[in-house]
Amino acid sequence: MAQHFLLSAASRTLSLKEIYKDGEEAAYETFKRLRWQETDGTPVCPKCGCLDHYEISTRRKFKCAACHHQFSVTSGTIFASRKLAFCDILAAICLFVNGAKGMSAVQFSRDLDVQYKTAWVMAHKLREALAAETTDATLDGDVEIDGAYFGGHVSPENRKEDRKDRREKENQSDRRRVVIALRQRKGRTLSFVRHREAEGVAIARTRLADKTQLFADEATHWDALELHYGVGRINHSLAYSELDGRHTNWVESYFSRLRRMVGGQHHHVSARYLYQYANHAAWLEDHRRRSNGANAHALLGGALNHPVSRVWAGYWQRAQ
Ligand SMILES: [Zn+2]
Repeated sequence: MAQHFLLSAASRTLSLKEIYKDGEEAAYETFKRLRWQETDGTPVCPKCGCLDHYEISTRRKFKCAACHHQFSVTSGTIFASRKLAFCDILAAICLFVNGAKGMSAVQFSRDLDVQYKTAWVMAHKLREALAAETTDATLDGDVEIDGAYFGGHVSPENRKEDRKDRREKENQSDRRRVVIALRQRKGRTLSFVRHREAEGVAIARTRLADKTQLFADEATHWDALELHYGVGRINHSLAYSELDGRHTNWVESYFSRLRRMVGGQHHHVSARYLYQYANHAAWLEDHRRRSNGANAHALLGGALNHPVSRVWAGYWQRAQ
């Protein structure tokens, strides 16, 4: 029997041991190579694009020969004004891609030996960077659509006479959200956080190529999609999968990863940041067959080509 990919040596190409053995200078070289991929690590002035520069090597900075702008390998990226060593950021990314069910900020801060707040922001910056891979993505071929509700659990009162009917709208929490996912079989997963699953119809219209073959469950709001696409419907009260390919197993396995992430790692996620976890689980799901070294380099490369975060840069300074 074939060995499961995650148990094979091919899945394991980067380790903390290796990162710290190679040291800070090697980590710095990796950052340069992934920031300036077209020039194979030669610094490019972010202001004017000039390749000529002076090195201020004591501070690991560069000064552009043309416009005199000073910059570093992380200037203008999601790691701008970093305080951690390059080694530590690389280690953070290694831990982050190894966490198949995500990574809680508490565990992250313990493993990296940094403050909880530092770990929390670092994890959210990485989630923002990985989500950028699919910001403008459209799907085609065979695509499954479904929604799953998260959060807003209302604990029942102790005594039966005090309990409310939670089927009534006024007794439900306003923190409840639905994650709507579009998943191309053997392709990418796109996730969206909304109030109602029916909002997925409008989303699908903007994210699917014309000849897409959709698969959806029996929920009536998906009927509207049949005007635009072929839609294979699967009635889950009768079967989970039909022999002719009608099923939503791909999107279901995405939701099960997200549920394990929310339940097993984070225990509680706020409606406000649910989109970040939804994107994180989608990225892990889509790259599950790639080695951890390839995933780490892809994520670092993405992060170093992702602008300063509008949400997470200076997050705690603003929060105070
Ligand atoms: Zn310049």
